[in-house]
Amino acid sequence: MTGNEYMEKTEAYVLHTYNRFPVVFSRGEGVHLYDVDGKEYLDFAAGIAVYGLGYNNLAYNAALKDQIDKLMHTSNLYYNEPLALAAEKLVRASGLDKVFFTNSGTEAIEGAIKAARKYAWLKDGRTDHEIIAMRNSFHGRSLGALSVTGNTHYQEPFKPLIGGIRFADFNDLESVKAQVTDRTCAIILETVQGEGGIYPADPAFLSGIRKLCDERDILLILDEIQCGMGRTGAMFAWQDYGTAPDIMTVAKALGCGIPVGAFVLGKKAAEHSLVPGDHGTTYGGNPLACRAVSTVFDLFDELKILQHVRETAPYLEMRLDELAERHDCLAARRGKGFMQGLVVKGQPVGDIIRRALDNGLVVISAGSDVLRLVPPLVITRDDIDEMIVRLEKSL
Ligand SMILES: *Cc1c(COP(=O)(O)O)cnc(C)c1O
Repeated sequence: MTGNEYMEKTEAYVLHTYNRFPVVFSRGEGVHLYDVDGKEYLDFAAGIAVYGLGYNNLAYNAALKDQIDKLMHTSNLYYNEPLALAAEKLVRASGLDKVFFTNSGTEAIEGAIKAARKYAWLKDGRTDHEIIAMRNSFHGRSLGALSVTGNTHYQEPFKPLIGGIRFADFNDLESVKAQVTDRTCAIILETVQGEGGIYPADPAFLSGIRKLCDERDILLILDEIQCGMGRTGAMFAWQDYGTAPDIMTVAKALGCGIPVGAFVLGKKAAEHSLVPGDHGTTYGGNPLACRAVSTVFDLFDELKILQHVRETAPYLEMRLDELAERHDCLAARRGKGFMQGLVVKGQPVGDIIRRALDNGLVVISAGSDVLRLVPPLVITRDDIDEMIVRLEKSL
């Protein structure tokens, strides 16, 4: 079949919830993707910040193949080997206490919300607890996660959503304080807002939120689904701020291609929230997904991914700053590590993305006017130079 035939078949049979770019990707190698016609693309999107290790990492593939041959699924009624190893590595990397594995980011958010509500319920027995979330945030598409996603366009057709959600402005501590009541059980935010347009939290904002949460015994939920797993140069973005959450959510690059997420609880939240019967999942934490997670942590160590991101990110930032200086259509650069956004003015971001694809570069958007760069974490300076060439041609 040709690329066009695959596209036609997809549109014929897959529910139209995405306006897809007209490319049929068929394989990947390192930081490059290839479409069905064999055309090569430099990938600065990584499947939306997922493929941290790049494509066709042989050690990763071998581990998964080995696990497929052994055992892929058991349910959570029994123990399995990769679950124990993956959980230990995630807990050690975060310094938090206990983990619950999910199949996606949005499910990790659902679990975090349930844990926070349970924590508060155990304290006072009330059933009207509130959560403060941020405007311009993104936490997922299931109803609970959508309820804390500060985007009215995403929410409106699906109301009523879950109750007791109040919104405040990201990086405005006073606006958060103004929403606190005696029923507030949690404050949820992305350490670096992703979908909303790549906005890192201000250190003072984050530490102010932490202090507020400590004073009022409110749980801080940090959504690290996009900014976590080495993307900003720390394993989790909050680790650079020195502000730890009570609950953290992760997904995207946690499995580097295998669908898996998790919510990770600090000691306080772990000891006073979910117990047997409160939460469950058939697939979550299955041997295949956990083998991926466990292998990802091993390879991050072996390849010194964090060190590589920290060393290479300043070069990426410098090249992007130079590019923005040369072109009036780029108004600003924002971001941290390998999570960068270029603010586009005077033309739709989608036009640049389409031209970039023509020129063999995969980039995506964030918000309405931001060009988002979330490459595999293994890109080199040469890849960055090549990206700049292909992007500049596309402006
Ligand atoms: C992608 C994302 C989610 C949702 O994850 P899914 O796996 O798509 O459900 C939640 N929060 C943030 C910050 C994300 O970037």
